[in-house]
Amino acid sequence: MVGEPIVGLDLINTVAVPGSPVADDLLSADRGAEAWWRIEGTRVPDGDLPDVRALRRLRSALRDMIEALVDGCPVSTAAVSELNFFMQSVPASTRLHLTGTGLHTQTRWHCERGGNPRLAFIATQAAEFLCDPSQVRRLRRCANPACSMIFMAVNPRRSWCTPGVCGNRARVARHHRRADRA
Ligand SMILES: [Zn+2]
Repeated sequence: MVGEPIVGLDLINTVAVPGSPVADDLLSADRGAEAWWRIEGTRVPDGDLPDVRALRRLRSALRDMIEALVDGCPVSTAAVSELNFFMQSVPASTRLHLTGTGLHTQTRWHCERGGNPRLAFIATQAAEFLCDPSQVRRLRRCANPACSMIFMAVNPRRSWCTPGVCGNRARVARHHRRADRA
């Protein structure tokens, strides 16, 4: 599932929660992360792809933090430290340009101390988003108990990650239950 308002949400949805019947990891060693980066490429800064272990480490911190917020549980300080680590690994500055079509800003990522701008960007974008209670209120777990996806309900009545997949499964299950009782 891709296309959530922040890249961090797409990132945590690249893995099914352990124990779920669809246990699968799009960033596993055999699949690699290149396909995922191809989809997200236009939403993140240019530059080298990060090590997949670092990407999985960021994913796990974000999953921890977002699940806590969705479930109304305390956010762990470990997850906060992890996000800070990624944000501080590549500081950014904004530069203003005057062009023929007007003013434009451009973000410059300071890689002097190492680090990967894509990871720093995903962490920073998620941090800003998760500090806004009006955004956090719209985060939902998919209503299919076998699904581990978390999404942003722009429409407050949305309860499935993908209506065509999880919504259909639920309708089929309801139909079977009704048929059993009949
Ligand atoms: Zn789902």
